[in-house]
Amino acid sequence: MCGIVGYIGKRNALPIVIDGLRALEYRGYDSAGVALWDGAKIRFEKAAGRVSALESRLSRKSTLWNGKSAIAHTRWATHGKPSDRNAHPHADCQGGIFVVHNGIIENYAELREALIREGHSFLSETDTEVLAHLFERPFLSSGKIFLEDAVLEGLRHVDGTFGIAVISKHDPEKIVVARRGSPIILGVGDEEYLVASDASAIVGVTKNVVYLHDNEAAVLAPSQMQIFNLSKKAIQKSVDKIDWDISQAQKGGFDHFMQKEIFEGPSALENVFLGRLIDPPTGGGSAKLGGIVAVRDRLLRAKKIIISACGTSYYAGLVGKHYFEEFAKIPASVEYASEFRYSNPVIDSDTAAIFISQSGETADTLEALREAKKRGALALGIVNVVGSTIARESDAGVYNHAGPEIGVASTKAFVSQLGALALLALFLGRERGAVSDVLGQKLVRELKAMPAKMKRVLSGDAEIKKLAEKYLKYKNFLYLGRKYQFPVALEGALKLKEISYRHAEGYASGEMKHGPIALIDENFPTVALAPKDPVYEKILSNIQEIKARNGRVLAVATEGDAKIGKLADDVIFIPQTLEMLTPLLSVIPLQLFAYHTAVLLGLDVDKPRNLAKSVTVE
Ligand code: GLU
Repeated sequence: MCGIVGYIGKRNALPIVIDGLRALEYRGYDSAGVALWDGAKIRFEKAAGRVSALESRLSRKSTLWNGKSAIAHTRWATHGKPSDRNAHPHADCQGGIFVVHNGIIENYAELREALIREGHSFLSETDTEVLAHLFERPFLSSGKIFLEDAVLEGLRHVDGTFGIAVISKHDPEKIVVARRGSPIILGVGDEEYLVASDASAIVGVTKNVVYLHDNEAAVLAPSQMQIFNLSKKAIQKSVDKIDWDISQAQKGGFDHFMQKEIFEGPSALENVFLGRLIDPPTGGGSAKLGGIVAVRDRLLRAKKIIISACGTSYYAGLVGKHYFEEFAKIPASVEYASEFRYSNPVIDSDTAAIFISQSGETADTLEALREAKKRGALALGIVNVVGSTIARESDAGVYNHAGPEIGVASTKAFVSQLGALALLALFLGRERGAVSDVLGQKLVRELKAMPAKMKRVLSGDAEIKKLAEKYLKYKNFLYLGRKYQFPVALEGALKLKEISYRHAEGYASGEMKHGPIALIDENFPTVALAPKDPVYEKILSNIQEIKARNGRVLAVATEGDAKIGKLADDVIFIPQTLEMLTPLLSVIPLQLFAYHTAVLLGLDVDKPRNLAKSVTVE
């Protein structure tokens, strides 16, 4: 949600923070704004709409804008509708302090009332604005005070979550930063420092970063950085290196990030397997996971697994459940992270809880993780963003190493998550003696073959585009799948909803006759996942049931299947593989179908309405 970026150093800060905003725009894009200290005063500008709207406002006056420190923000509104007025930065009464904020100030209504009683006046409907006025208070009462002291004093009154960057004309040669519950990363350049919500806004300037943890704050000045806790006790932190570069956060010849990332699926899978598959010439194959070595014994003692996640990661978890039960012979269940926390879950030290999040910052998943740890479970993370909060707070985990995912609709992260879950299940299956030498070897060989098979599916892109054209007239879709294909049906429907705003329902094919079949007619097509697997005949019957009611069927089936063509109206073929691995292949046509549908409808695929990439509010 929302992107924060700030720069202080020897260069003009404006182009750097605007580049940063463009890189962060995928996080939120309903309005944007910037504030810059020009050596004499703070200039600011904000605009509803995309970063480009802010840029065009700035272009009229940017020659006047020159300064060595600036903060900027791209918003995903929680309190107050998207508008110029509600866009960040927000200022105090005197226009002397400017704040950008990611998160929610839960007690903002009480604070606002109290501040109004004290004489403060508010310009916006946001929760954020109370921060600017809270930080103003110490300046009003004691005059000369450091900005960081005013910020720390103000934050003492705040409940909720924040990642903030603050500048002030009262103490101008610095940016003050703090976080609780919202991601903040600091960039360490050559006599220059940056602050951002994620590395994509920093990596164009420096790859040296410091991860700020919850309840930590920092002062960035042109030639130094100080980090402390919210009681101002100094903290020493190490500088980490980002292992990807700016080109990976650009489109690289593709029209959209989503398209690029769908095509990166095979390499994302290769990367998650890199150095982790054991394939001896004789004996069984297995998986080697450096990130879980430290908790190996505890993990092997676990009597059950709970997977918790949101959105696409949750659907990856549903596939994972089958992996753990089928291959590791361990009971597994999957819970929405947003429900898990409030469900009073029955878990203890015999539970291994797995939390899946691309960004590693998903607020619901993070809270679920904290709940699980509180109850004594072993907490494992499957996370893409290195150093993110979920990665840090998990007891152990598996990094995806899929590279940055910018498209709001997750694609390559899903395949990578399936890869990580398969590795974990293989490891557990072997260690628990549930996977034989022969099966272990077979699984490893097939896992290795998957990237090439995925590329074969991707080579059918042009035909999938034609199918998207053919089905463009329909406004409602049913996606059906059974067992391993049920989560894929859910994911395919989610992709279509997210970016093309078509209504799509994912359903377990066997459940269709218990309700949704009533919807079927010639205007309500079904995407049926029907690869050659043990439940193939069942789904064929479900397709028959749809055809008998004049429903149109687009099927995803295994190459060489002669039967399906006689039943379905259209078929997309995928290569043969092991049943457990078919989701890696069958999801690709659904990703491409949703992508082409949205593009044909003229929609902004990378920035679908109302959505933001990493959901850092509950
Ligand atoms: N709660 C703040 C607002 O609505 C910040 C939202 C965000 O993280 O973009 O303005």
